Amino acid sequence: MDNQANLFSIPYGRQHITEEDLAAVREALQGDFLTQGPAIAAFEEAFARYVGSKYAIALSNGTAALHLSALALGVKPGSKVITTPITFAASANCVLYCGGEVVFADIDPATGLLDIHAVQRLLEAAPPGTYSGIIPVDFAGNPVNLEAFRTLADAHGLWMIEDACHAPGGSFIDSKGIEQRCGNGAYADLAIFSFHPVKHIATGEGGMITTNSKELYDRIMVLRTHGITRDPAMMHEHHGGWYHEMQELGYNYRITDFQCALGSSQLKRADAGMKRRREIAARYDAAFKDTPLKTLSNTAESRHAYHLYVVLSDRRRALYDFLREKGIYSQVHYIPCHTHPYYRSLGHRVGDYPLSEAYYSRCLSLPMFPSMSDEEQEYVIQTVHSFFA
Ligand SMILES: *Cc1c(COP(=O)(O)O)cnc(C)c1O
Repeated sequence: MDNQANLFSIPYGRQHITEEDLAAVREALQGDFLTQGPAIAAFEEAFARYVGSKYAIALSNGTAALHLSALALGVKPGSKVITTPITFAASANCVLYCGGEVVFADIDPATGLLDIHAVQRLLEAAPPGTYSGIIPVDFAGNPVNLEAFRTLADAHGLWMIEDACHAPGGSFIDSKGIEQRCGNGAYADLAIFSFHPVKHIATGEGGMITTNSKELYDRIMVLRTHGITRDPAMMHEHHGGWYHEMQELGYNYRITDFQCALGSSQLKRADAGMKRRREIAARYDAAFKDTPLKTLSNTAESRHAYHLYVVLSDRRRALYDFLREKGIYSQVHYIPCHTHPYYRSLGHRVGDYPLSEAYYSRCLSLPMFPSMSDEEQEYVIQTVHSFFA
């Protein structure tokens, strides 16, 4: 490694905080409510409008959103739920929180997404009623064709949670030619998002559930605050203005008002951020065309949200180390979930999902975030070229 200072230090993803964001947070901090105030509903309404869903529920993080989604859909001991090994572990862990069992199905190696044919084979090989639900993930920001998954889910009586953490603003074109935004609730029962700083919209920690179901919305609102209801129509008794009832075991998965103020402010730049992510992706696509690097393909009907820009290389480890020496902090998404020691302790084994494991051996996420400058991207491109030279 040379001792020369690198030109840049570039992470694979990072938040962007503007003066407007700071002003929005300051205003929230100086208001009457730090939590349980009006900034939360305002963020929920703006987010529902953005993705095109009827309802949105803001939560303390994306993992809490997954947990309450699984609970609301009735995951319990004995429930078997299908998801992809190529995702952040939280997509699967939510099933375990509720005492259920995670069953993985392998990916389509072209897209990196859960392979609907692998899911279909699982469902057809089991007696009816074996599985309860499917959790497809819009991995890297590439929207899953939820229409196809919905048809399959309906044929087997399953619910569906879309893990859309990577894809706010992404969409796919359905068979009627209609653009369906990720999280709009047209095909999935529930969709979940995260506002961790590497994601499209940052609130520090934060998450969201979107849905078109009033019933699921009401249930999740109660679960978000300890299982307590204050709605007179839902209560068994009425003692006075102070009265409320804890009707089931819920959680405190609330988000604060100042985080939501930041979220609402960030959301105003979501379209600009998406445009910039797609520009960056197009520039990488062009730059790597004549290198040995491969990329994941988009399906014809998808409008990619580019949370990640994933390349595939047989020399991944060397490329990762080389970039790191040059101040470029690429990342690997993901270590297949079933190979983590905890999942192995549950009986999953290396070798179970060969396409996911082959993908893992080659994948690398290059820097991708809207505030990355053209100069920074050029530096990444030149450094990759010099690796292959
Ligand atoms: C980030 C992420 C989560 C979890 O979100 P947190 O807000 O970090 O809890 C879940 N699923 C996927 C695919 C993610 O990328």
